[in-house]
Amino acid sequence: MILWNEYPILSENFLKQHHDLVLYDVFHQVVAFLLHPPPCHCTDAPCQCDLLQKKISFSLNLDLFNFLQETHEDSEFLSGARLLLNIPQESYFQKNYTQAYPSWLIEKNLNEEEKNFKAVDQLTWALLRLCETYQLSYLRETRTSISESLEVIFGNTPVKTNRHNKLQESHGGEHFYKRQFKRYKSVCHFIAALQFMKKENREPILFSWNQSDRIERFLSLANWFKQKLLLLQTPNAKKKDVFLPEEILPLPSWVVPHEIDIPIEPFEKKLEEINVPFVEYLNSKSA
Ligand SMILES: [Zn+2]
Repeated sequence: MILWNEYPILSENFLKQHHDLVLYDVFHQVVAFLLHPPPCHCTDAPCQCDLLQKKISFSLNLDLFNFLQETHEDSEFLSGARLLLNIPQESYFQKNYTQAYPSWLIEKNLNEEEKNFKAVDQLTWALLRLCETYQLSYLRETRTSISESLEVIFGNTPVKTNRHNKLQESHGGEHFYKRQFKRYKSVCHFIAALQFMKKENREPILFSWNQSDRIERFLSLANWFKQKLLLLQTPNAKKKDVFLPEEILPLPSWVVPHEIDIPIEPFEKKLEEINVPFVEYLNSKSA
């Protein structure tokens, strides 16, 4: 599977010069993956997901190209941008106008995903923090799990009746989190990076055409999350690795992680709980 656009007709030099456009092109593909995360679970054939992904990134690229046309005079630059962003000639549009995925709908759909993204982000962080907690405990283990992370998020509920399940469901509880995590697993590093930047600052990156430096940071962050997630393990489970490399979308090969150092805080209460036997042992020794 070719994940990221390749630009065979464009020279290395051109791509270096127009790195901003490459960043936007990749970011628009990420947005498409966020709205239709692979692998999809479409039950009705034929699946439209691939096509929808293409339509989404195309509409976003077209918006960018229209902006460039308004703001740039240099025709050589514009024809380069047309090639790089894969913008067809005018006649194409009249023919295909009714098939398009409008950009206002992309924005609307993305906003509607917010609740899902929040759940995925929270569970992703819980997995990372739980692992940190076990590493800092006397066990010194690289260990985490989805079920234990959910326990930390929702508290321990020993009796799981149907009524309880329904309540959880309607309140976006554990089942909702599990379902969303399953659906967005391949893009959860992008979601975590996006949510991280949202907490960090200001306006959204989508539809603002002068923030390529932030897209660069977004990709570095996503890469950082990906590296951390690939280290997560649930030692006693049938499938040890929480994420297999093929379960999480790779980033373009040129993305280099730089200057990212986000502290991962342990869960203090959980840390105390894990350390109880150790503390008891120490106490019995000193008694
Ligand atoms: Zn599908």
